Amino acid sequence: MSENSQKSSVETMLTHAGRNPEDQFGFVNTPVYRGSTVLFKTLADIEAQSQRFLYGRAGNPTTETVESVITDLEGAFRTKLVPSGLAAITIALMSCVNAGDDILISDSAYEPGRKFADGFLERMGVSVRYYDPRVGAGLAELMKPNTKAVLAESPGSLTFEIQDIPALAAAAHAGGARLIVDNSWATPLYFKPLALGADIVVHAATKMFVGHSDVMAGTISTTEEAWADVERVRTLLGFFSSGDDAYLVARGLRTLAIRMKEHQERALEIASWLEVQDEVSAVLHPALPSHPDHDLWQRDFTGSGSLFSFVLKPAPRAAVAAFVDHLELFSMGYSWGGYESLCLPVVIKNARTVQPWTQEGNLFRVHIGFEGVDDLKADLASALQRYSVAR
Ligand SMILES: *Cc1c(COP(=O)(O)O)cnc(C)c1O
Repeated sequence: MSENSQKSSVETMLTHAGRNPEDQFGFVNTPVYRGSTVLFKTLADIEAQSQRFLYGRAGNPTTETVESVITDLEGAFRTKLVPSGLAAITIALMSCVNAGDDILISDSAYEPGRKFADGFLERMGVSVRYYDPRVGAGLAELMKPNTKAVLAESPGSLTFEIQDIPALAAAAHAGGARLIVDNSWATPLYFKPLALGADIVVHAATKMFVGHSDVMAGTISTTEEAWADVERVRTLLGFFSSGDDAYLVARGLRTLAIRMKEHQERALEIASWLEVQDEVSAVLHPALPSHPDHDLWQRDFTGSGSLFSFVLKPAPRAAVAAFVDHLELFSMGYSWGGYESLCLPVVIKNARTVQPWTQEGNLFRVHIGFEGVDDLKADLASALQRYSVAR
């Protein structure tokens, strides 16, 4: 937001950025602005179009509060709040391409984003290809003259491969394409894709930014060079996030740093504990030394998130049901990022086209929330016991 907040610690930024109590009669938070019509006083005013706000769809002080916090955190030129994480992905992709262009998407990327590319962009005349998330500098060999965008998600939010963002950025730029990175897992607290060469960063704000499982939102942050295209597409398509939703994102953001710290600690403790349990054949958490991309994670990230996966030894469906059906604290559901722990059985098969998922056994993804860690371990220990009996 200001030069001052750029220099501050993230904790200070999260606490102070994007709000100005003096503008709100001394109240600490920017309230919910609800509005479509914005009034102009004179013909000269409406002709000049220089008022800070012109019409509801372009944003209001509540949405701007969120946007300036994320801009500060990502070190971006600007940020736009949009109705969902998926909307952030679709706008970002559309901002890069015209009919006849080509895009490359990580094989580990969020599945609804793939469906948008395959089901919509292809129909609009854009060719869509996928790449191995571990391709690194090898991306250069996949670039075509008409490749205009590369979409990475690091780590993949089901299988947790870390991508070499500086190498991908170099290859994308050499070929005249922009690099889009989904940074939902680490948040800008622990990973800064723009500083490593990305052009556009997207977030499922629904997850960590909101933090309480009670609203859907997305953000798009860009470099100065990429901004105009993103804002043009968003404006043309009419995407807008309400003041009510924006208020809840802003409220969640104020505690992001302390939540991430707790999520990180708890997730790591449970991941390490799972690694030594009998039924577990692998734990997919990039901050564990056993993870194949641990070195890359250590090079580029300063922390880790709430979310990881683990693989249990091969067993029939009945064992998976025995595991998840009687959990007492972990609940089953899509999404993640709230205060409550979640456990989701995952089948990768159809979500991959470059390389089949070859890991034997049953995959589970967990989000570690704020219940007592020992209570969570006990819940998982009982589930592992049930799995072992059913296997
Ligand atoms: C959930 C998610 C999204 C989509 O966000 P929505 O707000 O649910 O549309 C995008 N990327 C990742 C990594 C996600 O986990």
